[in-house]
Amino acid sequence: MASYFDEHDCEPTNPEEQYRQNALLELARSLLAGMDLDLGEVDFSDWDHRLPPAAKKEIVQNLPTVPVTPAQADRGLKCPVCLLEFEEEEKVKKMPCEHSFHPGCIVPWLGKTNSCPLCRLELPTDNEEYEEYKQDKERRKQKEQRLEYLHGAMYT
Ligand SMILES: [Zn+2]
Ligand SMILES: [Zn+2]
Repeated sequence: MASYFDEHDCEPTNPEEQYRQNALLELARSLLAGMDLDLGEVDFSDWDHRLPPAAKKEIVQNLPTVPVTPAQADRGLKCPVCLLEFEEEEKVKKMPCEHSFHPGCIVPWLGKTNSCPLCRLELPTDNEEYEEYKQDKERRKQKEQRLEYLHGAMYT
């Protein structure tokens, strides 16, 4: 049985998202090509403009390795990083977002930054400052949504 995600690759809808996604994939590919990625000087105050830190090692090690199904191979499912079609029964690493990659493509990438190069789903990191930044961002978002809700309730 093919899952929802197998049938519907998460297509980004807005151009900016598409752009960011392509930029990430391009970075992942340059890593694969053996080009060293310069992720810039470490500046903990400005995570908005930089790639997040590496994913936690245990998380990466524990990503499920699954065989490619005949249906996926028939459909010509490709590794998003190297663009090679997966072979039936080939072992691939599956991210929590259901995107599959060659272990040799995704593992070095996750050693650089924690997100899926295709959809930017983030894995937990070891970096406390970054984790705090993420929580803080989430809190601010919730506060904004609450304010918007209150505003809407008062003025509509
Ligand atoms: Zn690959
Ligand atoms: Zn993904």
